[in-house]
Amino acid sequence: MSLTVTILGATGSIGRSTTDLLAQHADRFRVGAVVGGRDAAALARVARETGAAFAALADEAGGADLAAALSGSGIPNGAGESAVLEAVARDADIVVAAISGAAGLKPTHAALRLGRTVALANKESLVCAGDAFMRDAARYGARILPMDSEHDALAQALAGRPLDDVRTLMITASGGPFRTWTRERIAAACAAEAAAHPTWSMGMKINIDSASLMNKGLELIEAHHLFGVAPARLDVVVHPQSVVHGLVYWLDGAVTAELALPDMRVPISHCLGLGDRLTIARGRPLDLVALGSLTFEAADEERFPCLRIARAALAEGGAAPTVLNAANEVAVAAFIRGAIGFYGIAELVERACEHFSGLHRTAPEGVEAALAIDAEARAWSAAALTRMQAAG
Ligand code: NAD
Ligand code: MG
Repeated sequence: MSLTVTILGATGSIGRSTTDLLAQHADRFRVGAVVGGRDAAALARVARETGAAFAALADEAGGADLAAALSGSGIPNGAGESAVLEAVARDADIVVAAISGAAGLKPTHAALRLGRTVALANKESLVCAGDAFMRDAARYGARILPMDSEHDALAQALAGRPLDDVRTLMITASGGPFRTWTRERIAAACAAEAAAHPTWSMGMKINIDSASLMNKGLELIEAHHLFGVAPARLDVVVHPQSVVHGLVYWLDGAVTAELALPDMRVPISHCLGLGDRLTIARGRPLDLVALGSLTFEAADEERFPCLRIARAALAEGGAAPTVLNAANEVAVAAFIRGAIGFYGIAELVERACEHFSGLHRTAPEGVEAALAIDAEARAWSAAALTRMQAAG
């Protein structure tokens, strides 16, 4: 019997890697609904290729284009928020949550409320509203499978063992394109340099976050919620080869690590397999002899202050991570359009975190509350950005 997989963010980087794997295992999987943001033509292509049962475009204005592009295919489709929620409500054994940004919160949460098994790539769900997501997953009997290399590595290394046996959970960072650069050189870097990721191939926003190490900070926040581990028991190590992805340090001194070449299809296939291993066509084997050595170094929070700021937000708790994420999105967008320098990102995020510190002491109760704080923090950050630019 084949499993039905719905894909939220089907036209994106994670979405396409997912459809690639599903096509390789067409005997096991059927594609349920596919959801995209604004690109009607791209969504129609994915829907036709996969034989999806339904296609929904978030952008209501693109509905006519989507309908035209799907005419004759027999694939029902719609546009706007209600269509996205209809896509989520359709029958599915697994929902891949791979929308980028805060836009992913509502649809992902809707899937949890239906008690679905959710393969979670959308970081923002746990960063902005982690307490609410984990609470509601338990309340509605939904399963969350982490669809990120580091968290999937931790899940594989833990293999269901209790956290009582664990001393520390460690995730690795490639160190990004600026790992060996001086502070002065990083300060003058442009967006193209920051986006040139040494090991992974991903979208622009996450590439910039990898260069600043904010991505690792967001992943620590995710790990805290996913595994229910106190911040002090979470750690990061820089590992430029991106072959070791996560390590479990057990109480007795033993360490279990997961290794794989940097290919998102590995964690994606582990999620889709639901415990079974799926072969990946054209997946390269890990050749340790060819690699020769794996190296590790401490993360430098002087040159990469975003990691320090994110750790502080995690330690503070409440709505601090929600504010951190919103301010970072505003700052990264400003950096990409050349409005601020690379260290302007950390400066703006830190200012926002300081401003909001203590204002929202409790974590957002639910998605609506998280989105309200997100909007408030974005508006404040946009105004602070204008002040920063005026001050030169
Ligand atoms: P992407 O930008 O390539 O794709 C994003 C997808 O979301 C697209 O299909 C887009 O159409 C859709 N989308 C955007 N706005 C939407 C909206 N308002 N409503 C519905 N759909 C919308 O991003 P990506 O790199 O695939 O990343 C997706 C998520 O997974 C992010 O949260 C990212 O942090 C996370 N993630 C990505 C990687 C990676 O390797 N790319 C690794 C780990 C985690
Ligand atoms: Mg990751």
